[in-house]
Amino acid sequence: EPYTADPARYDGRMPYRRTGRSGLKLPAISLGLWQNFGGTDVFETGRAILRRAFDRGVTHFDLANNYGPPYGSAEENFGRVMASDFARHRDELILSTKAGWDMWPGPYGDVGSSKKYLIASCDQSLKRMGVDYVDIFYSHRVDPTTPLEETMGALVQLHRQGKALYVGISSYDAGLTRRAAAILAEEKVPLFIHQPSYSILNRWVEPELLATLEELGTGCIAFSPLAQGMLTGKYLDGVPKDARASRGGSLSQSLLTEQNLAVIRRLNDIAQARGQTLAQMAIAWVLRDPRVTSALIGARTVEQLDDSLDAVVRLDFTSDELAAIDRAAQD
Ligand code: NDP
Repeated sequence: EPYTADPARYDGRMPYRRTGRSGLKLPAISLGLWQNFGGTDVFETGRAILRRAFDRGVTHFDLANNYGPPYGSAEENFGRVMASDFARHRDELILSTKAGWDMWPGPYGDVGSSKKYLIASCDQSLKRMGVDYVDIFYSHRVDPTTPLEETMGALVQLHRQGKALYVGISSYDAGLTRRAAAILAEEKVPLFIHQPSYSILNRWVEPELLATLEELGTGCIAFSPLAQGMLTGKYLDGVPKDARASRGGSLSQSLLTEQNLAVIRRLNDIAQARGQTLAQMAIAWVLRDPRVTSALIGARTVEQLDDSLDAVVRLDFTSDELAAIDRAAQD
């Protein structure tokens, strides 16, 4: 049935945060299409999730060339929803895509970050999504076999051509982030955003990267804040059949050790005491740091999305709660 966006979508429930020192705000919670939106998933479920997200103020959708499976199919499915439901809302949307992991056969679309690969991949992504430009284009990963100047040169070209309004990098360490920003700055292209993993269980960004981003004026969008679903209540009573850990993919069941489950149980208790689900607390936790612009979540159902988006009801933490979370996560 035809889609009419909820007129109340900007009624103040979703906070929007400035991305680094840029002029662009992102929703505190953004939605990624890595899993659950591919050609092997039910299209109408994905469409319902996207509609619901937009109705609740989620203005940013994150993609990559190879999200699926099969590769490219998440962008194609998003393109269908773009055409049928979101066409009149293009200027309300921040769309991102990336290149850097394996995509097409042969030496130019394989794991790498040559100029050839990034430029061709961006053109393919625009076609699949049915848009003239993306808002953000990312170098998806560090490629040690390509000079950083070449990879950043590709971002500069996409930026100059208007195929990407802003550019970003994903999973670069602090030192390479600094170098990337310097190369871009020579071309007067700001490093708009960095996309690292970050969660209560994965804090690699804390020692150096977050301070580097603040200094550079670069925003930060934290992916997998739910640790791919581990930071929810779903694994506390066994592994549900439909959960990511059952599907033999990116979340290995071997992570669900008694020790990890004990940590999750303690965190779940803290969340309950806050009047939140664990998913909501885990999302609020990455947002407690003002250097984090947005929490980039995934969702397989509308119910999960609704649960997660309710994180914005309580984003603040007492220092006692933060200390208890640290203790629970370290034990
Ligand atoms: P999350 O940590 O948010 O995990 C999402 C998964 O957790 C869902 O698919 C679902 O899995 C489960 N879940 C979500 N909400 C709930 C809930 N409220 N209650 C119970 N279970 C829930 O993020 P992802 O790992 O999916 O990553 C999010 C996005 O980040 C990606 O789509 C992508 O855009 C980006 N990303 C970027 C990477 C990069 O290299 N730059 C790498 C990885 C992700 P289930 O099937 O178990 O129900």
